[in-house]
Amino acid sequence: MQRIFTFPDDILKQVAAPVRSIDGTLAAFLDEMAQTMYAAPGVGLAAPQVGLSERAIVLDCDSAEERAEGRGRGLLRLINPEIVEAEGSILWEEGCLSVVDFTAEVKRASRVLVRAFTPEQKEVRLEAEGLLAVALQHEIDHLDGKLFIDYLSVLKRTAALAKWKLEAPNYPGYIRRVSLETPDDRRGHEHPEEEL
Ligand code: ZN
Repeated sequence: MQRIFTFPDDILKQVAAPVRSIDGTLAAFLDEMAQTMYAAPGVGLAAPQVGLSERAIVLDCDSAEERAEGRGRGLLRLINPEIVEAEGSILWEEGCLSVVDFTAEVKRASRVLVRAFTPEQKEVRLEAEGLLAVALQHEIDHLDGKLFIDYLSVLKRTAALAKWKLEAPNYPGYIRRVSLETPDDRRGHEHPEEEL
């Protein structure tokens, strides 16, 4: 299980490098990221959050209903993802696996078109709205060294930092440890925790 680096670790502020070659090592790393994401639990995870400053993300934003009916998109593993179109706007209450116990409303585009590569080296275009659109923007922000709290007003950010100071002793080295004990519990929930 990978460790999740938390705010204010420097790796979260770095602009991640483009992936130059898609190989088996990267594919295996993405699979491990997916395990970490499900175990956390979260609906998205970017490579810098687990210590690799490269442009790769995983997401699974399917609802329990979509999963049950087999009409979800399943696990998405995206390499060098890029937003090529964005329109509309939506306010979404966001959380982040790297920002412990804090959520806030962020304004995002309501629909995005993302171009990326899969671990099979296939170029894909992904149209998304709602949670998946928000999650894609949130994860791609991670690749640019940006956190959702960077969008907040000074006041809200100060509140977030104050809260973090209370939590920080629980995360020595800014590291969050994820355990595998109940990865399937979230499947039964109407709305999984939307941590990104
Ligand atoms: Zn995040």
